[in-house]
Amino acid sequence: MLLGCIADDLTGATDLALMLTRAGMRTVQVMDVPAPGDALDGFDAVVVALKSRTCPATDAVDLSLRSADALLALGARQLFFKYCSTFDSTNEGNIGPVAEALLAKLGGGLAIVCPAFPANKRSVYLGNLFVGDQPLAESPMKDHPLTPMRDSNLVRVMQRQTKLKVGLVPFGVVDQGVDAIRAAYASAEASGQSFVVVDAILDRHLLAMGEAAAAHKLITGGSGVALGLPGNFIRQGLMMASRPPDRMNAPKGRSAILAGSCSVATRGQVKAAMEAGIPAMKLDPALIAMGKVDAAGVADWVLKQPAGKPPLVYSSDDPGAVRAVQEKHGRLEAGAMIEHLLADVAVRLVKGGVRRLIVAGGETSGAVVNGLKIGALEIGPEIDPGVPWCRAVGHDLVVALKSGNFGAPDFFTKAWERME
Ligand code: ADP
Repeated sequence: MLLGCIADDLTGATDLALMLTRAGMRTVQVMDVPAPGDALDGFDAVVVALKSRTCPATDAVDLSLRSADALLALGARQLFFKYCSTFDSTNEGNIGPVAEALLAKLGGGLAIVCPAFPANKRSVYLGNLFVGDQPLAESPMKDHPLTPMRDSNLVRVMQRQTKLKVGLVPFGVVDQGVDAIRAAYASAEASGQSFVVVDAILDRHLLAMGEAAAAHKLITGGSGVALGLPGNFIRQGLMMASRPPDRMNAPKGRSAILAGSCSVATRGQVKAAMEAGIPAMKLDPALIAMGKVDAAGVADWVLKQPAGKPPLVYSSDDPGAVRAVQEKHGRLEAGAMIEHLLADVAVRLVKGGVRRLIVAGGETSGAVVNGLKIGALEIGPEIDPGVPWCRAVGHDLVVALKSGNFGAPDFFTKAWERME
């Protein structure tokens, strides 16, 4: 194992794992702090998916340090702390406190800070983060319910979260390439800085900043920064690039789709799947609340469908209908009720012979993964940007966990073409 990664949420972890896989690393994602004895041999990178973005900073630090210990025990040569490409955090953390604690564990030195991800239109210029053509503090992130971002300057944002010194490697240096960046890292460290925000507008900036950080014990960043890391291990002769898988050798068995996301993309995918003739069952939250629809009945319906076209069960609905349900049952209560039902359906489907499962929705995926007691996912072929098929390690099952807004309209019909 070469690269040990700690991600502050589930879908962000998958995003990173996929990026590393595409760059040639055999990568596994684990759902919790790895325990001694977990079967994680044979991977170049291990990504621990935490839920530490918005919990109290002390808990985030504790979880991250425990993950670091486990990854170092597995042989990690470098740690990567992955956060969101919009730098989701508050003045209290959790990016600063976690990065500071990890740096201390690794004996100090300098760590880069860079959420840039040009492919997703996140760029950093003179320390300011842009989301598309808007500065972060003018983007919709200014109104995020949990981590409202009201300052676009990441040097200031990071400095408010740590007592260590934060500097900047500006565009003029980054654009000159690896040697100039490496020299800037050295002088930042010599002047007492522990973190440097590094500008990046194009992928080549990410590649260069990663190459220049080959000797750093800790890297921090969005998944974009991962572009430049696998090359370091290849150049050092520590690994050979594996070809990213483009097909999945999946267990034989039935297929099914569970959609608990109400995002525009998922609703479009549900509509397209039905137009393509996929048998579909819509879950009515009112009937679930009255106990008139239960997991046993739903699973039974799925398993009775003729083999051939993967049945779809969905609760996805438009904003008006969702609001009405939330007003009646409570926002969190309605969400949890549907998530639990879908997780229970998933468990029954797998018992009934389903071996290939698509789940739409971030929270919904979390509930299903928990219900199925999936501890680790081996990353397989990419279906659409950011969504791979994954093998559930230790289970006879492959899953695709789709964050609500991801995927093209034909996602539910084309995903199966990657199977053998
Ligand atoms: P996304 O990735 O699109 O955010 P999530 O699964 O994370 O999707 O979140 C969707 C939330 O909405 C879940 O808690 C889910 O249970 C809930 N939900 C799904 N369908 C409905 C519905 N018809 N009415 C109210 N809430 C719903």
